[in-house]
Amino acid sequence: MESKDFPVLEIRNLKKYFEIQKGFFKKKNSLLRAVDDVNIELYSGKTLGLVGESGCGKSTLGKSTLRAIEPTSGSIHLNLDKKYSLCDLNKDELRSLRKYMQMIFQDPNSSLDPRMTISDIISEPIKANYALKKHDIKNKVKNLMEIVGLNSNQLYRYPHAFSGGQRQRIGIARALASDPKIIVCDEAVSALDVSVQAQIINLLKEIQEKYNLTYLFISHDLSVVEHLSDRVAVMYLGKIVEIGNTEDVFCNPKHPYTEALLSAVPKDYKNKKHKKIILKGEIANSINIPSGCAFHTRCIYAKEVCKNESTYLGLTENKHYVACHLHKDLNLSGIF
Ligand code: SF4
Repeated sequence: MESKDFPVLEIRNLKKYFEIQKGFFKKKNSLLRAVDDVNIELYSGKTLGLVGESGCGKSTLGKSTLRAIEPTSGSIHLNLDKKYSLCDLNKDELRSLRKYMQMIFQDPNSSLDPRMTISDIISEPIKANYALKKHDIKNKVKNLMEIVGLNSNQLYRYPHAFSGGQRQRIGIARALASDPKIIVCDEAVSALDVSVQAQIINLLKEIQEKYNLTYLFISHDLSVVEHLSDRVAVMYLGKIVEIGNTEDVFCNPKHPYTEALLSAVPKDYKNKKHKKIILKGEIANSINIPSGCAFHTRCIYAKEVCKNESTYLGLTENKHYVACHLHKDLNLSGIF
């Protein structure tokens, strides 16, 4: 069933709004639009990088994707032996599919329980999903430790006995323990030293090839995303403003926001020089999103139309989509 571009996860019109209570009596409600009408697909065995500034909604999208938090509306289809509509499943049905969808978090210190041994941490998802005998669980845990580059003799140590990079390896082993198909990596290497980052990125690549894993790799660091991703989606104030193959997006960015993000990366991509663009101001508040194109308050190319007319993702070429009024001939009919 799985071919080269087989979408293992299809997300359509996904929204996640939070109601914020304001005022002295907390009676005034506002809506924070963290994720606003997002359409993406994750292809089997491939990585979609998700980039954008802090506060743009990347992590909320990652968690909503797996229904780790409840989306406000939209659909998520998981394609395995059959098509599962995640938003229509009850808690028990969702729990039975959880093993196929895991997360790796940014901070390995807070994502590992300091009172549990490494053996307990890694065996927890195995016990929850498989009826295995004690020695088989132990062997599986040891095997996972070796796969992620840890010494399996350290089975009964506690997380504090390991370095930051080793703790992230433990987090990866725990994510692998239930034999997942999809892993959401939420800033998974951001808290690590640069040299350790490279080791963890290589490890993620190795296990992706070995187990045909599909990643949604969330990061604010474009250099890291470039290393790992087959495609890249750029997010601004809850919306995807550009998505395409990594090479197309990095060499030929279509959205002024992507252009600005790339111009802030010290190194050039494939000898393509990006002109220096200094972004004005901070990302706007998701409660009070600017009218028209939400980026118009910071965009160096903004025109009158940008203040008044919303933008929609449209196809330019080669599965490269952008939402910007600068591109006149966008094909808005197709969803990727
Ligand atoms: Fe800039 Fe206008 Fe394009 Fe928005 S639509 S990114 S404001 S040029």
